[in-house]
Amino acid sequence: MSRPELIPRIIAALRSVLPEGPAFIPLHEPLFQGNEWQYVKECLDTGWVSSVGSYVDRFEAEMAAYTGARRAVAVVNGTAALHVCLLLAGVEAGDEVLIPSLTFIATANAVSYCGAIPHLLDSDQQTLGLDPLKLAAYLAEIAELRGDACWNRRTGRRIRALVPMHTFGHAVDLDPLLELAERYRLALIEDAAESLGSYYKGQHTGTRGLLSALSFNGNKIVTTGGGGLILTNDTALADRAKHLTTTAKLPHRWEFCHDQVGYNYRMPNLNAALGCAQLEQMPRFLEQKRALAERYRQAFAEVVGVVLFQEPAFATSNYWLNALVLDEAEAGQRDAVLDATNSAGIMTRPVWALMSRLPMFRDCPRMDLSGAESLERRLINIPSSASLCSGPLREEQPGREDKP
Ligand SMILES: *Cc1c(COP(=O)(O)O)cnc(C)c1O
Repeated sequence: MSRPELIPRIIAALRSVLPEGPAFIPLHEPLFQGNEWQYVKECLDTGWVSSVGSYVDRFEAEMAAYTGARRAVAVVNGTAALHVCLLLAGVEAGDEVLIPSLTFIATANAVSYCGAIPHLLDSDQQTLGLDPLKLAAYLAEIAELRGDACWNRRTGRRIRALVPMHTFGHAVDLDPLLELAERYRLALIEDAAESLGSYYKGQHTGTRGLLSALSFNGNKIVTTGGGGLILTNDTALADRAKHLTTTAKLPHRWEFCHDQVGYNYRMPNLNAALGCAQLEQMPRFLEQKRALAERYRQAFAEVVGVVLFQEPAFATSNYWLNALVLDEAEAGQRDAVLDATNSAGIMTRPVWALMSRLPMFRDCPRMDLSGAESLERRLINIPSSASLCSGPLREEQPGREDKP
């Protein structure tokens, strides 16, 4: 049964949480209240703005320490991080790579950059990430181990890797996925682009897979303007990641010699400086974002027909992007909700169109996607900037005296 009063109730619940005023409230805005001006100015003052500089080393060391990964390699963006993770995992042209159909386009694009084929999987309503039970049944049906490699019986192609994604910062159920990856000899790469500050069973996301990719795009919880990071506990892989992302140049005082086709995927020092300043504020960002999610949860507890998506029991989420989930009976009202909220000055957005519906991935192999299709009909992202939950947490803005 569709509820005609649903839309005004959703708007009232959003208004009860969000700041008053005529200004349009965007989905996600960065917050620069720490040492950003000071660190970036230092790059300009010293001339160290580009691909070499102490902030890159510092950002990598601090990200490794923050996540608990043994090594971190900073790169230009999250898509490049994913691309290099896949290459280092041995993904070759003609291979298949298992990815969720419900993800941001970067996951599928990175697979294509390797000449490989995305193989699209279903998502679980409880985590918004890959459904491990359904995947186990599916692999039992289509996959076959030959020697140390996994083959798709239907397409005759090798399946090389499995790439779960932590949707909106909520951890996917990694343990059963790691078990499947081991059983089928698949490299597990975490797309942790959205989950800096999110934990799975007490461990930071992006530290269980062979390799993982993070993003610091302008809309993520921490931004470097644009940027990405590769995490791994394998120091040899980290060294190869650094080499491959720095044009595969052999270290030498003056010679320019390269030993393979590499990539210019380095993160510039300017961006790393911004990242160092942002990372210092992570505890506050997390506190504010979790507090905002809690306010939303309470406001929507009263609204029949919709819930605020909550972190799974095994996870502690960064609540990067809050999501409303409409009841199946209300799914037909999704576009009307989007229209009314955006008209009311509150930015909302549906989840990404499933990869299986895009022209370049429409013909890719896939399993039954009914879970992801249901989520696609019902998910609505709502404003989630840390600044929306300031109140007593907001302090003076250090570093602003450096503003020219
Ligand atoms: C943001 C994001 C990426 C990487 O994006 P970049 O803009 O290239 O940094 C990859 N996967 C997911 C799921 C993302 O949300």
